[in-house]
Amino acid sequence: MLKTTSTGLAVFAAAIAVVSLVLLLLNTGIALVVLTLLLSTLVYLFHRFNEKRLAELSAAEAERRRHAEEMAQIHMNTIESLAIAIDAKDQTTHGHVRRTQIYATQMGKLFDVSESDLRALHAGALLHDIGKLAVPEYILNKPGKLTEAEFAKMKIHPTVGGDILKRVNFPYPVEDIVRYHHEKWDGSGYPKGLKGEQIPLIARIISVVDFYDATRCDRPYRKGMKREDSIALLKNMVGSAFDPKVVQKFTEHVIEFDRLIDAEDIQEQVASAPILDMETSTKPDAGLASDILGTPIESSGFRSISEAQREVFALHEIAQTIGSSLNLNDTVTLVANKLKAIVPFDSCVIFLVDERSGKAVAAHAVGEEAELFSSRRITVGDGITGWVIANGRSMCNASPELDMVGVADEIVKLFRGVLVSPLLREDGAFGAIALYSQSRTSYSTEHVRLLESVCQHASSALNNALTYEKTRESALVDPLTELPNARGFYMMLEQRIAECQRMNRESLSVICMDIDDFKIINDKYGHSTGDRLLASVAGVVRSELRQMDILTRYAGDEFVAIMPMASGKMAESIADRIRNAVEEQLFSVRTGTLIGLGVSLGVGCFPEDGETSEELLTAAARRMQRDKHGRKTVLTVAGAGVSSIDMMT
Ligand code: GH3
Ligand code: MG
Repeated sequence: MLKTTSTGLAVFAAAIAVVSLVLLLLNTGIALVVLTLLLSTLVYLFHRFNEKRLAELSAAEAERRRHAEEMAQIHMNTIESLAIAIDAKDQTTHGHVRRTQIYATQMGKLFDVSESDLRALHAGALLHDIGKLAVPEYILNKPGKLTEAEFAKMKIHPTVGGDILKRVNFPYPVEDIVRYHHEKWDGSGYPKGLKGEQIPLIARIISVVDFYDATRCDRPYRKGMKREDSIALLKNMVGSAFDPKVVQKFTEHVIEFDRLIDAEDIQEQVASAPILDMETSTKPDAGLASDILGTPIESSGFRSISEAQREVFALHEIAQTIGSSLNLNDTVTLVANKLKAIVPFDSCVIFLVDERSGKAVAAHAVGEEAELFSSRRITVGDGITGWVIANGRSMCNASPELDMVGVADEIVKLFRGVLVSPLLREDGAFGAIALYSQSRTSYSTEHVRLLESVCQHASSALNNALTYEKTRESALVDPLTELPNARGFYMMLEQRIAECQRMNRESLSVICMDIDDFKIINDKYGHSTGDRLLASVAGVVRSELRQMDILTRYAGDEFVAIMPMASGKMAESIADRIRNAVEEQLFSVRTGTLIGLGVSLGVGCFPEDGETSEELLTAAARRMQRDKHGRKTVLTVAGAGVSSIDMMT
């Protein structure tokens, strides 16, 4: 445009010069000659200047185009990297993203959307779930129902994703897709509760095609559906979740779209039996009232991501450490100490229900006024903590004084915020963790969710410690070795198995062990020496086990160790360690006489060898017998027996 204007001007000026020259020839006047020559020079110079400028402008234009292409490439690279990051967290596949992209852009064309919207659909198919980077993995891939607090965390992903994309500043409206792809046609969606055509069309398209393809593929918690079943489900949700026009157009053209997908070899949708337990139906639709659940925090995308990572790390650490001791005091202390890094508080009190009195008794208190809190006893049903235990649900942001009946006014006045979550087991709440704050007046939904996660881990550790304490007090303990006896063993093993079933079938092993030729020891050195040796062997075995393992005296010279979170391989290696330690130990049988002992061992592993205590024990005992038989054959061939092994004086 500029080029043609400038060239036109030059031509116009040249024409004037020619006309002037003709006039000059006709009316020869010296002044006019000078003027004409001057004008011609000016025209020439202007033309040269113009040409140079034009060359510069076209170079700048080429540079600008190159820059725009480079930027587009950078955008695409950004999109790809972000999409890879999302894929790595969520268990979606690249195939899902590519198919969604094809469905979305084809739908965009059918709806005749603008070029910019088409580009947004292309990128939005990749990026709509980017906010899931801020949702911890255990929530994203949780097989069962999400808790209300976990669902609240899940619901932040469109907002976090929108905030992230705002910074990238895409030249097309992909941010709208990310922010609004969980809005529903009837207004019951999130984050804004937009209704009908208030939701941008491109976001409505993405939500339909993403849902359709997701239902067609296997996920960790359910099987994929056939095309007809997915379509039927979509139609069922017309008017509630989805735009009727979008669903209609999609169902009319889905077979054409699938042909395009077939051509690209990204087909992994499964044709399998229909399932009812859809992702959406496993989640509650709305949270509890904010006085119970807390207030949501509006946090920026990047901060949420780093918080999610820190949280996963802290929870992992808690899960690893708090189950490591069976001692009730150690466990409550550990829980309270670890909690500090996760949820803020000034005072933390762990309450456990005392079975005899039925009251919730403070088992441990840390922080401000710890001494006062450690003597608290609360009737179940009374105050905040009593309500939480009676109802098995968290509560926060009520007035802390409700929980401090009988406490001096000047102390009650110090506290402004409270958050209490229950400690739960199969038969309901058996205690609660109460956090009191002097500085904050309110806790957020984030804090509720975090405390609930900690309580989940703490519940099983505390429940185990409580059971262990109980076995110590009752007839479940063997007085000779002070280890749980066979009854205690069954009680604890069953409890552990139930826990493994609940915790995604985590592994658990048992090691059966039996001292070799123990009768000979009794015969040779007497029964009371035999007793002493049994207790010494138990000590050696115990020292080779991990702190969280439970050693029991099953019967006579037989011991069984219960090893939570231990694979068969780990248990095998610990069994080897035990065998070596017992064999290397010299036991004193009378003054100046030391003898060596042998022990046979066998491992049983949940769930590979069985899922009941009987099945596990049978597998372990069978392997132990095989080990004993093998060892005795070797000893017989070598001509040795217990009476002569390592006999020293
Ligand atoms: P094996 O190598 O086949 O294990 O032979 P073993 O002699 O160790 O015999 P087994 O394990 O079948 O029997 C265990 C023996 O341990 C039987 C009994 O004499 C002895 N025993 C069982 N309970 C006690 C106890 O409380 N004190 C003592 N001193 N001995 C016990
Ligand atoms: Mg024996």
